[in-house]
Amino acid sequence: MDIILPNSIERILLDEATIQQRVQQMADIISTDYAGLRNEEFLLVGVLKGSFIFMADLARRLTVPHRVDFIALSSYEDSAAATGAVRMIMDTRADVARRHVLIVEDIVDTGYTLQYLYRIFGARQPASLRTAVLLSKPDRREVEVTVDYLGFQIPDVWVVGYGLDYADRFRTLPYIAMLKPSVYEK
Ligand code: 5GP
Repeated sequence: MDIILPNSIERILLDEATIQQRVQQMADIISTDYAGLRNEEFLLVGVLKGSFIFMADLARRLTVPHRVDFIALSSYEDSAAATGAVRMIMDTRADVARRHVLIVEDIVDTGYTLQYLYRIFGARQPASLRTAVLLSKPDRREVEVTVDYLGFQIPDVWVVGYGLDYADRFRTLPYIAMLKPSVYEK
């Protein structure tokens, strides 16, 4: 069946079935790795807003008990891209200490956001700290960061859909896609 694309979409990079299949594989591996923990010992921390759909799909496919929590980050305006400065605008409700923490992030680009998260959460005495990231753009990396569970590597293009936005649009598309250049030029 042909998918009718919205006008702004240039091309689908990862279709819905491909994403769902990979998220299931990631959930299976994570469920094996975290087997035996109690609900209050395993905490998923989603990074808003971009990870909200990935988090919902991944968490629902886990077969091990877990809790979910969220943080929200904001890059400092103007110089963000240059300096990689990140700031937290909403923290978790749950206490991280002595819990096995899995950070759930949409995409790793330069690596500054993940580096920041490792630093902040690492300082809170978690029992362990790992990351599950749906997408990675290896060509863009400026700082080396470990991703424990990765969905897909993608080329250096701006992508939208499945939680990811452009100017707060396109987040609820079920696939991951590239935009037409005309969208940016508006
Ligand atoms: P980093 O700190 O690794 O450079 O950037 C991570 C953040 O940049 C992601 O959490 C995401 O918010 C944003 N980002 C990087 N590349 C893309 C992209 O292609 N599309 C969208 N929507 N956000 C991106």
